[in-house]
Amino acid sequence: MARSLCPRCQRPQTTCLCAAVHTARHQVQVLILMHPLEQHQAKGTARLLHMCLPGSRLVVGETHDCEALARLLAEPWNDADRQAPRRTLLLYPPTTADAPCPAPPPLPPGWLAAPERLRLVVLDGTWRKSRKMLWTNPALQALPRLALEEVGASGYAIRKAHAPHQLSTLEATQQALQQLEPANQSIAALGAAMQAFMAQQRSHWPAARSAMLKPAFHEPKETPCPSATPSPT
Ligand SMILES: [Zn+2]
Repeated sequence: MARSLCPRCQRPQTTCLCAAVHTARHQVQVLILMHPLEQHQAKGTARLLHMCLPGSRLVVGETHDCEALARLLAEPWNDADRQAPRRTLLLYPPTTADAPCPAPPPLPPGWLAAPERLRLVVLDGTWRKSRKMLWTNPALQALPRLALEEVGASGYAIRKAHAPHQLSTLEATQQALQQLEPANQSIAALGAAMQAFMAQQRSHWPAARSAMLKPAFHEPKETPCPSATPSPT
């Protein structure tokens, strides 16, 4: 028998995300580029993130046509954007010297002073897949970057190879938005959404519960979100 999907979150009714949605008010637009393999990943947080942020869009794909991607990054989403075009930046740690792609341009001074003009691009996939998305899309390489200042402990312990500093896409984006809009208390709604999501996951995946009790002593092979990886400074 086919499982019926929730029309709002597109999940099976048993794992419907809608009860975990807490809506945040925010100025920075968020463009979530989701790796195709994340699309049906029940433990992924990108769709929930998208549902919590009215000013966000979610697009699925690994390699994008260069022109189409450039358009996606810059196109106005509303009239205000047409008046004052958004400045797009990528949530991603600094590129290491051995990476096969050019170093990103520096963040222009003044951008951070006007969060209402910013559009933050978030890559949703494992560390390896996000890196491939960056390496295969020159339009992403050309974006100035935002790295997380301080990576706190993650509450997200339901995916394998998880160290405390590795954040889910939702948590990394929450930290980034808090960095960009420090006075905006509404962003805490994302934390509430994450907690509700985790509670739901624990009830559906008993194995995850034991994983949560075990600290990660090994060096992980993959992380769920590259933005959460500490910079090599
Ligand atoms: Zn739903």
